[in-house]
Amino acid sequence: MITKPKGTYDIYGENAKYYNYINGVFASVCEYYNYEYIRTPIFEESELFHRSVGESSDIVSKETYDFKDRGERNLTLRPEGTAGVVRSFIENKMYGDATQPKKFYYSGTMYRYERPQAGRFRELSQIGVEVLGSDSPMMDAEVISLAYRLLEEMGIEEVTVKINTLGDSASREAYRHALVEYLKPHIHELCEDCQKRFTTNPLRILDCKVDKDSEVLRNAPSILEYLNEESKTRFNRVLEYLEYLDVDYEVDPNIVRGLDYYNHTVFELVADLDILGSATTLCAGGRYNNLVSFLGGPDTPGIGFASGIDRLMMVLKELNKDKEMNQGIDVYVMAINEEEKLTAMRLVQDLRWCEVKCDMDTLGRSLKSQFKQADRLNARMLIILNSEDLQKGLITVKDNITKEESKIDESEILDYIVSNL
Ligand code: ATP
Ligand code: MG
Repeated sequence: MITKPKGTYDIYGENAKYYNYINGVFASVCEYYNYEYIRTPIFEESELFHRSVGESSDIVSKETYDFKDRGERNLTLRPEGTAGVVRSFIENKMYGDATQPKKFYYSGTMYRYERPQAGRFRELSQIGVEVLGSDSPMMDAEVISLAYRLLEEMGIEEVTVKINTLGDSASREAYRHALVEYLKPHIHELCEDCQKRFTTNPLRILDCKVDKDSEVLRNAPSILEYLNEESKTRFNRVLEYLEYLDVDYEVDPNIVRGLDYYNHTVFELVADLDILGSATTLCAGGRYNNLVSFLGGPDTPGIGFASGIDRLMMVLKELNKDKEMNQGIDVYVMAINEEEKLTAMRLVQDLRWCEVKCDMDTLGRSLKSQFKQADRLNARMLIILNSEDLQKGLITVKDNITKEESKIDESEILDYIVSNL
């Protein structure tokens, strides 16, 4: 038997319902916020990720799926969504579009060579947004509140927005210097990865999952002490707007995000649930004002977030959202002989066009086992066809909740079903 590759999984059955539900809620929330859908390729030139996400990030240093195609091109399966959207923005010259800022939302699979565990896969699904062309702190607040309201809309309320700022380049550089000085005498106390990060990406040490509770990191200097006035004012604006929009947040100076392209606001939406193990971050994002120019476009500010659908599905399951989602079908149409079956076939088509979710038997089941099947499908109503009644122009309908049976005139059946559901 051929099995699925390690770190992947099939989405079917209950999971498929969650998957579609999340995408549906996400798309409708984004449309209200006036974001437009974008789809970019699942593979891109490797250089795009190496340049944008950064060589020293976990993703590029050890998680990408790189390959050469038959034409010897160096390609990479996308590990995240921002780089592709920014590439598309530049390549399609969307910076010339008068409707700035450009606000996008996307949904799709990403690929990371990680050690698979709860909430951590090699093929993962993300939903996310990217806004290009606005540096306003109001936009930071909009994007964060979109993420917050999205989770709220799905009934996920036990969420904290953890927010921090990396400041502008000057503040970040000053902080980087102070952090390196502070860590130098302690570096041997940290994990192997952090020892490497010390030279390549010292800020990332604050984000380490292994060392996060260590004395060394707890006493580390905070970026907030190294912000220049401009960066401080900007950050305070964002916080004020969030308060104004009733978004609960917590300033957490240890949020630095693993990717190289962030500046100013960075944030994560975190759920405190045991089932998530170490994978408690549901949404993560930040501002990346230098990325567009870094990738060869005109100076354009950006901000976005991404959220892991796989983790959202685990949370929804934990919250017993399934009751809402496994509502079953509206009508099951029962028929035995050819004449009844023909009537059934036409009837289910007509009902479906009236937006009634219905089905019928196509496996030649007996009447008894059609009743069982209707129960398995959790049908709200049954239509029981029989030739004798049909000749008189009558159809039997049974309400599966009240157990009441009625004979309805064939010409009125659609109206009857629609008005009684
Ligand atoms: P983590 O700190 O958990 O490794 P990350 O910083 O690598 O997350 P991002 O790159 O910001 O995560 O991705 C955004 C979101 O995508 C995460 O908050 C999480 O919900 C989800 N995600 C990230 N990696 C995985 C994975 N391997 N499997 C499933 N979901 C993931
Ligand atoms: Mg990661």
